Amino acid sequence: MKKPPIIRLLVHKKIDDETIRLARKVILETFTGIKKVEHSVLPDISSAFNPLREQYNAERILDTLVLRVPPIFLALIPYDLFVPNLNFVFGVALPLRGCVISTYRLKLYASRDLYQKRLLKTIRHELGHVFGLQHCSQKCVMRFANSLYELDIKPPNFCPHCYKILLNLGVIEG
Ligand SMILES: [Zn+2]
Ligand SMILES: [Zn+2]
Repeated sequence: MKKPPIIRLLVHKKIDDETIRLARKVILETFTGIKKVEHSVLPDISSAFNPLREQYNAERILDTLVLRVPPIFLALIPYDLFVPNLNFVFGVALPLRGCVISTYRLKLYASRDLYQKRLLKTIRHELGHVFGLQHCSQKCVMRFANSLYELDIKPPNFCPHCYKILLNLGVIEG
């Protein structure tokens, strides 16, 4: 990436201020090549609600955002997300475009400290996908997690291999 991208943070109105502050901090402190986090208005996502599942379809949300928001965006949603064939997802990403993250499950059975750790891992993981990383089987935040247990036991950092990719891309400064 020649020019370091701006990250557009799209925040649902029910997301609390502390979460917004932490998200900004995690983005800027993790992806040191990114110099600016800009707030943008979250477009209406109500068409992504699935009344039978009482969850939001994360892929539909991404479809909506891709049409309305330039790259690179991170949307924070307080509602539970799913994609077809999975009970739920913590987040979903589209490479080089953006990602959507739900805080809903991150808050379950969590102290403030645990919630913050989960949010940090999820933001790093989804933005890692946005910057082209795949799932990783090393001791790495890019490990796939489909339960709170898997999320809680995986490390908060990128493994050397994934780190190097981000470094070469310029989204992390050496
Ligand atoms: Zn993933
Ligand atoms: Zn890795």
